[in-house]
Amino acid sequence: MKQLELLYEGKTKQVFLTDDPDKIILHYKDTATAFNNIKKATIENKGLLNNAISAIAFETLQNAGVATHYIEKFDERNQLCRRVEIIPLEVIVRNRIAGSMAHQLDVEEGMKPANTIYDICYKNDELGDPLMNDHHAVALGLATYEELSEIYRMSARINEVLTELFLRIDVELVDFKIEFGKTSNGTIVLADEISPDTCRLWDVESGKKLDHDRFRRDLGHVREAYEEIRARLEKITTK
Ligand code: UDP
Repeated sequence: MKQLELLYEGKTKQVFLTDDPDKIILHYKDTATAFNNIKKATIENKGLLNNAISAIAFETLQNAGVATHYIEKFDERNQLCRRVEIIPLEVIVRNRIAGSMAHQLDVEEGMKPANTIYDICYKNDELGDPLMNDHHAVALGLATYEELSEIYRMSARINEVLTELFLRIDVELVDFKIEFGKTSNGTIVLADEISPDTCRLWDVESGKKLDHDRFRRDLGHVREAYEEIRARLEKITTK
């Protein structure tokens, strides 16, 4: 597999073309951003940790029958993935109400609703990724109703599998953001990454936050939290 030119550079990852038109390389950087890129920093080795954590999450999901873009992690910072067209929606799954939603609804962070909450946001940095509903997404041509129902079905299954994975390492999956892509034949697959950058992960025993909120909220020990997640996950997998 030969790495070719940079296709796209995001806030925390780079995407490179390869000599196979159906495959891309995802390169994980050490940059951390929050509040739509207003707060920025470099966290040494974050890219390496997220690559390892995301690889375990995607392998677990694939083993559970969830279709994803992931092929393999081939070195410390790089993964080989199928090339997909990203659907410009961020799907947020909430098992507890936290962060911006707790703030907007004026409920205490950590409130556990009887139902799982699914939000969709328009993936558009200029607009600040606004929350929208299915009808807005269809009206803008971002997805069809059929595609949205497949996305919600997959999101529910992903939530089940990841909740169980994290519980095995004594971590509660509070909420997370995922993205989907379409393969050349129109199949919807899970894409992007699953890591402490994109999930709220609370230690079951202590309630300690082991995720990106340590950076966003200046709680300190950001890298140590990511290292803790990687170490616990590696203990329960063969990697
Ligand atoms: N999230 C993300 N990228 C975003 C926005 C949110 O990965 O651009 C994740 C975030 O880490 C959390 C979940 O999605 O696990 C829900 O985030 P929320 O809507 O509460 O936003 P926040 O409080 O982070 O602004």
